[in-house]
Amino acid sequence: MKILKGQYLCCAVEYEIPDNLLYAGYCHCSECRKFSGSAFSAFGGVPKNSLLIKSGEEEIRYYKKSEASNMASCKVCGSSLFADKVAKGLVHIRLGSLVDFPSLKPQAHLYVGSKAPWFDITDGLPQFETMPSERQAPT
Ligand SMILES: [Zn+2]
Ligand SMILES: [Zn+2]
Repeated sequence: MKILKGQYLCCAVEYEIPDNLLYAGYCHCSECRKFSGSAFSAFGGVPKNSLLIKSGEEEIRYYKKSEASNMASCKVCGSSLFADKVAKGLVHIRLGSLVDFPSLKPQAHLYVGSKAPWFDITDGLPQFETMPSERQAPT
C-alpha cells in the first residue's frame, strides 16, 4: 500500500496515512467553511487507527465541536488538520494538508443546501443537499 505524507503549513506536525481513502468529498456546510476559512472543505475519510502522527503530536489542538466531532488544528500555524469522528472511529483528513496525492479524488459535493452563495460549483460531480446516506454532520 502506498503511503501518503501530510504536513501542515509550519511543518511542525507531520503525518502519514495509507493511500486508501474510504471516501472523499467536498463539504459545503457552514461549519467547514468557518473552520477552513474557505468556500468548502475537501476531506477524505480513513480509519482513525491508520492515521500515524510522525511528529509534532503535542502541537495539535482539539476543539470539541460536538459529541460526534473533535476538530484538530495546529497550535503553531493554525492549519486545519482533521476532524476526529469520535463515535465512528474515523478521521476526516483535510486533503489540502497532504503532500502526496491520494488515488481517490473527491466523489461528491455535500451540504450543498448551505453552500456559500458566492461560490459556484462548475464540475459534474453529484450534489447532495446534506449527506447522501445519513443525517449526521459529516465533518
Ligand atoms: Zn462540513
Ligand atoms: Zn502548524
